[in-house]
Amino acid sequence: MAKNKNEEFVTHITSMEEDFSQWYTDVILKADLVDYSPVKGCMVIKPNGFGIWENIQQLLDARFRATGHRNAYFPLFIPENLLKKEAEHVEGFAPEVAWVTHGGDEELSERLAVRPTSETIICSMYSKWIQSWRDLPLLLNQWCSVVRWEKSTRPFLRTSEFLWQEGHTAHIDEEDAEKETLRMLDVYRDFAENDLAIPVVVGQKSEKEKFAGALRTYTMEALMLDGKALQAGTSHNLGQHFAKVFDIQYLDKDGKLKYVWQTSWGVSTRLIGAIIMVHGDKRGLVLPPKVAPIQVIIVPIAQHKAGVLDKANELYQSLKDSFRIELDDRDTYSPGWKFNEWELKGVPIRLEIGPKDMEKDQVVLVRRDTGEKSFVPMEGVKESIDQLLKDINSNMYQKALKFREDHTSIATNMEEFVHGIDVRKGFVKAMWCMDRQCEDEIKEKTGATTRCIPFEQENFSNKCVHCNREAKAMAYFAKAY
Ligand SMILES: [Zn+2]
Repeated sequence: MAKNKNEEFVTHITSMEEDFSQWYTDVILKADLVDYSPVKGCMVIKPNGFGIWENIQQLLDARFRATGHRNAYFPLFIPENLLKKEAEHVEGFAPEVAWVTHGGDEELSERLAVRPTSETIICSMYSKWIQSWRDLPLLLNQWCSVVRWEKSTRPFLRTSEFLWQEGHTAHIDEEDAEKETLRMLDVYRDFAENDLAIPVVVGQKSEKEKFAGALRTYTMEALMLDGKALQAGTSHNLGQHFAKVFDIQYLDKDGKLKYVWQTSWGVSTRLIGAIIMVHGDKRGLVLPPKVAPIQVIIVPIAQHKAGVLDKANELYQSLKDSFRIELDDRDTYSPGWKFNEWELKGVPIRLEIGPKDMEKDQVVLVRRDTGEKSFVPMEGVKESIDQLLKDINSNMYQKALKFREDHTSIATNMEEFVHGIDVRKGFVKAMWCMDRQCEDEIKEKTGATTRCIPFEQENFSNKCVHCNREAKAMAYFAKAY
């Protein structure tokens, strides 16, 4: 009976190879991360999903503080005149802005935008707050949600409202702003690689793909298991565009009034989508230990037998201050059923304890990433778990890195290019002329976009892969979310 139940449980997930998109939907719903909401295009993040976000927030926030940033909060609404001040910016966001036109029954004298991003309202405040070189650098971050009216949506990847953080800083000169832009990109990279076990390619966005109103946009790009890229975080050097429009000037040491240089940078709940699509497998979620809401689940075996539940409880008590750990002592489900459920939910380690283990004074640890089982002595179990979590994290990173390497190819002509995108599926590295029209044509023909001009450049040809004109840089191309 129990066995059939288990099998049934797993077959609920569509296989990745068959239909990746359906696999994704099955996993997020069955692992109980989100639910669809009555508002079209908006998701409800349930405790299992929100717990991941809370851990992401905590780990990133510590890094922001360590680099000198403080948190603040700005209004959700942006008056129309503010949003429209910077021409490029408004043009970029206009198609997806949600507008508030009424307060109660009364029509507003000026429409209010629900923030799609907060540059404009923050700049309007910075022009008041920044007077002297002594006020710089100003380093603020905001945790909030933003709204971008999307036509087609997918939970975590593209929703009309999503959670994120947006850093906004002001600097004395271009050099300092550029340093900040790159520093925060590196904070993101470090976080993605070390805490999410997701390898990323870092580099600069093309003119076409850069943030509306920015001087330069830098990005980190991750490769999903279906061979599509996901932009996982961006950092923008805004130059002086906003400062000039919003009149953010400071009195410099030399007694002259100067415009500040600005940056903004953000990551969002999209990162959860990346975790799912980089690490998941046929049994469901595989969560990186550092952000897993539950790191260890204790499943007692033959829990009706004398002493088993007591021992399980004792273990729970002794480990709960060291790990995010829970004890599954529900007597309405078989251990096999529980195994499947916690595997589906991606818990990194399952700890089994039963009568036989008690006799041998040991516990069983089963890792989610490989399914590998180990028997470890009761004494020192905390250290064993600690080490295993580290091993899991590094194995997940290595596995994802190998996948990316296996799915990254070099193209020196369009035939190779198309092969890399459609057959090998993944990143294609190619020399590129950096021309906007050439970029559009490549997209039209192959569905692939430029992901970034990586900092780590290679040179394998003098000619653009597509138009044969002189190549200016090597770029990463891919189909993308
Ligand atoms: Zn070209």
